[in-house]
Amino acid sequence: MRVILLGPPGAGKGTQAVRIAEVFGIPHISTGDILRANVRAGTPLGLEAKRFMDAGDLVPDEVIIGMVGDRLTEPDADEGFLFDGFPRTVPQAVALEELLVGRETPLDVVLRLAVAKAEVVERLTGRRTCSQCGRIFHLRFDPPTEAGRCDDCGGELQQRDDDTEDVVLNRLEVYASQTEPLEHFYWERGLLRDVEATGSPDEVFASADAILREYGGPATV
Ligand code: AMP
Repeated sequence: MRVILLGPPGAGKGTQAVRIAEVFGIPHISTGDILRANVRAGTPLGLEAKRFMDAGDLVPDEVIIGMVGDRLTEPDADEGFLFDGFPRTVPQAVALEELLVGRETPLDVVLRLAVAKAEVVERLTGRRTCSQCGRIFHLRFDPPTEAGRCDDCGGELQQRDDDTEDVVLNRLEVYASQTEPLEHFYWERGLLRDVEATGSPDEVFASADAILREYGGPATV
């Protein structure tokens, strides 16, 4: 199955992507995660990307397109993929379409997670991520048992540099101007499906799961 998760920052793409990838047995490809790993490792790509990320701006298309092209050559992507945070601009979507046409592996569906803007700011500024295992918590909606510690592995919880309020507001503006046009792009191609993303993670997953089962079954292992 080849799936894109579309939606503003804070819509819950990362949380849903982890579950969908596990249930349907497809790799979760988050361009934000790949970029953050490069920043942590201090690679040239990471050094170039960091200043855009810290400001909440988009990393240039050619950098992202090259990175995704490389990722899709890894063998696990032959079985399908779930993109989270990619594409984010029309040129990225066009490049992906060309890449997939070349492989004769078109997209199955684009899930749009819809959530009210006011809620997004609260979701993002309260988000905390485990520095060890990557599990996502929320100070209000899903707090850890012990403040600042991951329930699963005991790792230290951290706030992403770009989850502060001023950067979040810029990320939302960037979404509206650069990424929202993709909704029309995929709607025109008959690929866009809406998922109501205001409920609990379980409720949102149930809606996404029901749609995805129309395109392929869950993993049997
Ligand atoms: P995310 O984890 O998806 O919210 O991404 C965090 C940051 O990484 C974004 O605010 C951008 O600076 C950068 N980024 C991630 N994915 C992309 C993309 N597809 N195109 C451009 N920049 C991206």
